[in-house]
Amino acid sequence: MQIITTIKEMHAFSKKLKSEGKSLGFVPTMGALHKGHISLIENSTNENDVTVVSIFVNPIQFGPNEDFNKYPKDHKADMEKISSLNIDAVFLPEVAEMYPKGFSTFLYVGGIGGILCGVSRPDHFNGVSTIVTKLFNIVMPDRAYFGQKDYQQTVVIKKMVRELGFSIDIVVCPIVREEDGLAMSSRNSYLNDEERQSSLILYKALEYGKELILSGREDKTSSIKLKMEALIKSDPLSAIDYIEIVGPEYLEKIDEVKTPAVICLAVKIGSTRLIDNIIVE
Ligand code: AMP
Repeated sequence: MQIITTIKEMHAFSKKLKSEGKSLGFVPTMGALHKGHISLIENSTNENDVTVVSIFVNPIQFGPNEDFNKYPKDHKADMEKISSLNIDAVFLPEVAEMYPKGFSTFLYVGGIGGILCGVSRPDHFNGVSTIVTKLFNIVMPDRAYFGQKDYQQTVVIKKMVRELGFSIDIVVCPIVREEDGLAMSSRNSYLNDEERQSSLILYKALEYGKELILSGREDKTSSIKLKMEALIKSDPLSAIDYIEIVGPEYLEKIDEVKTPAVICLAVKIGSTRLIDNIIVE
């Protein structure tokens, strides 16, 4: 497993593979790797000749009062976790390599970049799209792997790939959960014991919402959202950022209950903001 830190080296690595006719799978991450990341990597190693994983905590996708400075970084532990997987290279650039002094070229995601998570994180998807575009140009993959955990991100990236004409297949992998249902996330490490217990409310509410949709007892998504809200509010450490029931492809709000639909939510547990979603079909 080669560790590559510069764009120049990464270009050379990928160009060589392409000249040999090899297929390249790519898994972008921010590190603090867990089983969710590992599942993306395993999908990539199964489907491609070569797999590249990037680890980069992207400063421009964090808002001014968010957790960029405390985001967990442990490259040594990450390397140990992935050393037994069939990865060919890890791209591990410094911030200055990706955003040299004077950097001023950014992507702007209109429309769906401003809904759901985009309401409380207005520049988030601009930052995500900018870094993913850069990484796509640097790694030059045939396929790139993203988790359903960040549902809106997968829709934003697929749209960006279509609209900007990238020749890259986007593969979305299912959410990996802890045994008790909490979606794995690098941010779960912020939770203390009490908060960890409270965090179960996200998945419970999603399951409840799914059950209400499938039961056919409700006509309007507004009443389902109210019931989910009441459940979440019964937990004293939880504060709802949003609950929405949307269409799976365009994220448009659904008013009359129908399937397929995706229930998306963001909830703060103490000071930690967690997101999760469930597809109902
Ligand atoms: P992150 O390091 O949080 O930026 O995540 C890197 C990739 O891993 C993204 O495509 C995430 O959607 C995906 N991912 C994170 N958590 C999970 C999970 N629990 N299950 C599946 N994929 C995940």
